[in-house]
Amino acid sequence: AMAVRVLEEEPGFNAGVGSALTRDGTVEVDAAIMDGNGLRVGGIGAVPFLRRPIDLARQVLEDGQHCLLVGDGAWEFARERGHERARPEDMITERSRQKLAAHRAEQGNSGGTVGACAIDAAGHVASATSTGGMTGKRPGRVGDSPLPGCGTYADDRAGAASATGTGEAIMRVTMARVCTDEMRRGATAAQAAAASVRDLAERTGLDAGIICIDARGGIGVA
Ligand code: ASP
Repeated sequence: AMAVRVLEEEPGFNAGVGSALTRDGTVEVDAAIMDGNGLRVGGIGAVPFLRRPIDLARQVLEDGQHCLLVGDGAWEFARERGHERARPEDMITERSRQKLAAHRAEQGNSGGTVGACAIDAAGHVASATSTGGMTGKRPGRVGDSPLPGCGTYADDRAGAASATGTGEAIMRVTMARVCTDEMRRGATAAQAAAASVRDLAERTGLDAGIICIDARGGIGVA
């Protein structure tokens, strides 16, 4: 959570401050964190103007009642946990505005989602992902990042993974789960990362990226 929190505050990334804008020019964030020890997970989807998405995802995980909160109910939970709605000018950057303008002119898309995978001395793995989603998305759209097995997954028996790319493709192949399944069958993190990127490309014709860590501490990036 700490690594992702730092990146959310960095305006150059598409997460927290600097998040991609919806087609209406607003910010709606997605994030999740998963603990491979017991498969505990907390996610939030399409939450407007939330500045610290990974903290809220972690609070959903720690609360333990649900795996994913979205929309107004997510804000009610957020306010109970001390979050305040950010002012638009504190999250929207010149760069995110330019990207929306380029998207409207059909020139570009997204990228810049942030993620982290970790392992501790006891061999427990975890994964976290945070994003503003795709530039020009319809308000209410939830991407892959907060969905367990899609953009984020962690299982002590396999490893942990965090994906980036077009969420609609990642969800259809459940990319993070493909990656951790490879590790569960004995692949190294590097092999599993490459295999899951290949699988997504073969099945959807699109590109995506993934970072992962296996239960022995090996790392993979593809
Ligand atoms: N995967 C993110 C989403 O579709 C976007 C990204 O990774 O850039 O919401």
